[in-house]
Amino acid sequence: MTNRVHNFNAGPAVLPLEVLKEVQAELLDYKEEGLSVMEMSHRSSTFSQIINDAKAMVKKLMKVGDEYEVLFLQGGASSQFYMIPLNLCTEGKVANYLNTGAWSTKAIKEAKKIGKEVHVASSSEDKEFTYIPKTFKLSENPAYLHYTSNNTIRGTEFHFIPEVPEDVPLICDMSSNFFSRPMDFSKFDLIYGGAQKNIGPAGATLVVIKRTLLEKMNTGLPTMMDYNSHVAQESLYNTPPCFSIYVIGKVLHWLDENGGLTAIERHNIEKAAYVYDVIDSSDFYIGTVVPEDRSRMNIPFRLPSPELEKKFIAEAAAVGMIGLKGHKSVGGCRASVYNSLPMESAKALAEFMRDFEKNNS
Ligand SMILES: *Cc1c(COP(=O)(O)O)cnc(C)c1O
Repeated sequence: MTNRVHNFNAGPAVLPLEVLKEVQAELLDYKEEGLSVMEMSHRSSTFSQIINDAKAMVKKLMKVGDEYEVLFLQGGASSQFYMIPLNLCTEGKVANYLNTGAWSTKAIKEAKKIGKEVHVASSSEDKEFTYIPKTFKLSENPAYLHYTSNNTIRGTEFHFIPEVPEDVPLICDMSSNFFSRPMDFSKFDLIYGGAQKNIGPAGATLVVIKRTLLEKMNTGLPTMMDYNSHVAQESLYNTPPCFSIYVIGKVLHWLDENGGLTAIERHNIEKAAYVYDVIDSSDFYIGTVVPEDRSRMNIPFRLPSPELEKKFIAEAAAVGMIGLKGHKSVGGCRASVYNSLPMESAKALAEFMRDFEKNNS
């Protein structure tokens, strides 16, 4: 086999080897059609099957039915930051947010930029986003409550779903933890995320919307900004990110064939525990977030000095462990251990961490 590294990148991130091999095998000649998925019309019946299958897999894994619409859009999760208020802040309504890190801060900023009234219902900024707030207070006339289920940069995760009154739409940026655990997805009115962390290559943004929410949206928006137009055209108003959607479909099948979200959750808990156990059994590595709110996807940690962190990252890279540098806004180290990261990679990192501690303390 080729030399695959242990890939701890935060996104784009590791994909299942089985999926990459399937893609490789089909690359030149998809199902004896004599061309690759990259080269075929997005209006062909072959591509229709690919996109419809990917949508069906999203619903199957989320255990939701036809009361939801599935879209594959472009512009990243970042475009959803303004599309959501644009579509949902109707006259007199206030956009509500839980602010738990850099991504929700950006979502708030975008809503304000397009002139919408914003209310921060709770925030963990007082302690540098190192915990998840357990309570919040909505404004009058909330358009929705938006939160980020996993904070990719700080390494905190909601291990519960915030409770909102029935008439308040619940919206979630799940970019870095969707499909990593079973959740009651039926509690959400809109779920979105960039594909490039847990379900595929960059280029596609998955948006899952409850049909009842579509009826409450603003009209007259620019077509590309309008959820209802994308739904009416079944994600084919313009050319969708075809190749990315094709790979997402394969990743979702891979998840399904390996026991679905229940099995991947067990796998993810075990995988993250390898790294957290090292952190907890050492004074050398310092976890940066409140233990009860720790993410199973992104594990940030510090070493005793910036020099040692630099050395750690360099020595890890030299033995084939990449992507361990913390986000530039927070420094330190971060191991991202998404769905597709093999158990062996987490074991290898834990072992490397113990050796490095021995040799440097
Ligand atoms: C990466 C990330 C984003 C940004 O995604 P893009 O697809 O690059 O726009 C937004 N939210 C969260 C939680 C992320 O991890």
